[in-house]
Amino acid sequence: MKELIIAINSGSSSLKFQVYEFPEEKMIAKGLFERIGLATSMDLTYSLDEAKNRRSVEGETHEDAVKFLLEFLLEQKIVADLSEITGVGHRVAHGGEFFKGSCLVDDEALEKIKSLAHLAPLHNPINIMGIEAFKNNLPACPQVAVFDTSFHQTMPEENFLYPIPYHLYEEEGIRRFGFHGTSHQYVAAEAAKSLGKNVEDLKIISCHLGNGGSICAIKNGRSVITSMGFTPLAGIMMGTRCGDIDPSIVTYLGREKQMSFAEIEQMMNQESGFKGVSGISSDARDIEEAFEQGNPKAILAMNMFCGRVKQTIGSYAAELGGLDVLIFTAGIGENSPIIRQLACEGLSFFGVTVDEQRNNSRQSMISQEDGQVAVMVVPTNEERMIVRETNQLIAN
Ligand code: AMP
Repeated sequence: MKELIIAINSGSSSLKFQVYEFPEEKMIAKGLFERIGLATSMDLTYSLDEAKNRRSVEGETHEDAVKFLLEFLLEQKIVADLSEITGVGHRVAHGGEFFKGSCLVDDEALEKIKSLAHLAPLHNPINIMGIEAFKNNLPACPQVAVFDTSFHQTMPEENFLYPIPYHLYEEEGIRRFGFHGTSHQYVAAEAAKSLGKNVEDLKIISCHLGNGGSICAIKNGRSVITSMGFTPLAGIMMGTRCGDIDPSIVTYLGREKQMSFAEIEQMMNQESGFKGVSGISSDARDIEEAFEQGNPKAILAMNMFCGRVKQTIGSYAAELGGLDVLIFTAGIGENSPIIRQLACEGLSFFGVTVDEQRNNSRQSMISQEDGQVAVMVVPTNEERMIVRETNQLIAN
């Protein structure tokens, strides 16, 4: 009998799935339901091999999507019986301070995840909907929650606290949490594997540069500092998010411009970053194109973005007391040679080099032959990490 594990990533109007066969850890199907809740039907795109297929699916809720997915797995003969699904792993945005690792979702864990909804009001409630839909439709199957935050729970107190009155941490739980933990953990492990080394023996900086971006310093296989904070708005500049700015800008705009909190939040989350600086686009591809055409705002936006990445790499190398591996991952990190090059420019004084030919030819090792730091491009795969974690927990 087959053993299949499904990775689920529920968004506000979407549900992404990937089905893996174990013990080979081989992906055998993936797909995305979109436009959930926007009409009486939703769109499904899926692939079982290379070809992409589309269909429209009756239904309006995440639960309808899950019901359809289970029927679909039977219809496509991916499973002969639903009991072949041995586990479902869910991406959950926020595990607060409570979840220090992935967990099997029993009633108690589910209540705990619900109680953390105030920390991720746009995400945790939707992730819970995904979990509940599977609980209702596949009640005997173990569900696992894999948190974006839990990898960073190893940060020392001096790195996760903000220098504001301590009681705000004690009473309100205000601290740095960090996000993209599944991705940072995955690429660090993959990089170590491809170097033939133990992740515990390496000092690693992982740059997850996508539409959202964060950087993480990893020592002995553990996160010691990461650039996102109490929320995913903090850290480096992103597609539409500002990242770290002087907090007084917020109070200034409220006081002098009578902007509301909602307006300021919208500006910092949706109207800043690449989009806000360039006035062109939030998409790095558009910025690159305009940069190459000599557009001054695009040049400025690129220099700001790469500068912030570089400054963070520098400070994290200082935090680690050295550096063995520098990783680039996610949409920009995996696909933009120019951003990787600019972010590493001038860092040869601490061993970070980029070989132009390797960088431009999609190789995974892009540092120069004699570079002391292994600079690598490692494709992230959060779904694979989710099914790995799920497999481990159900095996235990
Ligand atoms: P993600 O959030 O990981 O899906 O990454 C999205 C970001 O990756 C967007 O800013 C895209 O513009 C960027 N991206 C994707 N492909 C490329 C590419 N070939 N060159 C530059 N940026 C890219």
